[in-house]
Amino acid sequence: MTTMGSRRDFLEKLSISAIGLPILYSPAKLFAASSEPYEGPVLRVAIMGLGSYGTRVAKAMESCKRAKLVGLISGTPSKVVDWRAKYDIPEKNCYNYSNFDAIKNNPDIDAVYVITPNGLHKDQVIRVAKAGKHVICEKPMGINAKEGQEMVDTCKAANVKLLVGYRMHFEPKTVEVIKMRKNGDFGELKFFQGLSGFVIGDPTQWRLNKQLAGGGAMMDIGIYSINGARYMLGEEPIWVTAQETKTDPIKFKEGVDETIQFQMGFPSGAVASCLSTYAMRHLDRFFLSGDKGFVEMKPSTGYGPIEGRTHKGELTQPHITHQTLQMDGMAQLIFEGIQPIVPVDGEEGLKDLKIIDAIYKAVKTGKKVDL
Ligand code: NAD
Repeated sequence: MTTMGSRRDFLEKLSISAIGLPILYSPAKLFAASSEPYEGPVLRVAIMGLGSYGTRVAKAMESCKRAKLVGLISGTPSKVVDWRAKYDIPEKNCYNYSNFDAIKNNPDIDAVYVITPNGLHKDQVIRVAKAGKHVICEKPMGINAKEGQEMVDTCKAANVKLLVGYRMHFEPKTVEVIKMRKNGDFGELKFFQGLSGFVIGDPTQWRLNKQLAGGGAMMDIGIYSINGARYMLGEEPIWVTAQETKTDPIKFKEGVDETIQFQMGFPSGAVASCLSTYAMRHLDRFFLSGDKGFVEMKPSTGYGPIEGRTHKGELTQPHITHQTLQMDGMAQLIFEGIQPIVPVDGEEGLKDLKIIDAIYKAVKTGKKVDL
């Protein structure tokens, strides 16, 4: 072994054992290990809200090694019958929205994954935490920062983990780009552009109901550009400006945003320019530019495959179902303390909610809002 090699080995060991740096999550390692037998602990999860995304998560969890669907919380008995048969779930692990506090007395469930409309997250997460179970909550974690803070505080007091369904933090190409950024490959970062949107259908759905959605496109899809700007630039914004346009005030009622353009300023001087919309198709693109290089990702946050290229060439990391990686990664986080490259905890969810609050304030006042 060369002197350089042994020194590096020594420093690596030192970095984990003596300095106590966290061990970082690696999608490549997790993927490489997926063909090996696994005998460690398995996170036993109950899904709350058996809707379209809950269905996707349940299917993805079939390929997990460290997480398993073992329970259901639903207000629709017929769905429970179907899901029980499909996933071999015992009746004693099934609850409805009135009685799920009794999960407290169920030793066979470790965590509840809340996948219901945004406006219900806060109360449901708090009830799960008070029942002593870890909580995974879909994005947006709540509908404003006040709710988010209450959720973080309650989970802390209950000594349970609060994690947010930020699946991109486990996605291999995204993780690679973040590693490149940390490595200085893009040089001094100057600009991020995030475009997040789709055309929303059925006008009667909860996503267009202010009370259940907490807002409009910003809560649902614009949040990807907010979170993306933060993990691509690796900084927290210090100000926002924002402008709203509404072409269909019947479909998008008061408090439900159709399209918002927003800008964020960062301490380094980098700026982000983003678009959040329910009125444009195929809008899913990130662009990051520094004085040494760039990355363009399109699609950047859809279910994948994510595609992208940098000044060095195409991103070639494998596509693995995001929710499978996320749930295995969250189990590693809970059992082994292995942190994803960007946090997925309640504090991370709260940061996005504070920015959303500021964007809505900027839209209302027409002024720059400091964070
Ligand atoms: P959905 O409408 O398909 O499902 C929502 C579920 O909640 C349904 O099963 C519904 O019966 C249940 N529910 C309980 N109480 C309800 C009420 N009062 N009103 C309406 N429904 C009620 O929605 P979805 O697309 O599954 O979204 C659920 C959550 O997941 C949202 O927070 C959303 O932002 C999030 N989501 C995240 C991603 C992601 O990629 N991370 C993708 C889609 C949705």
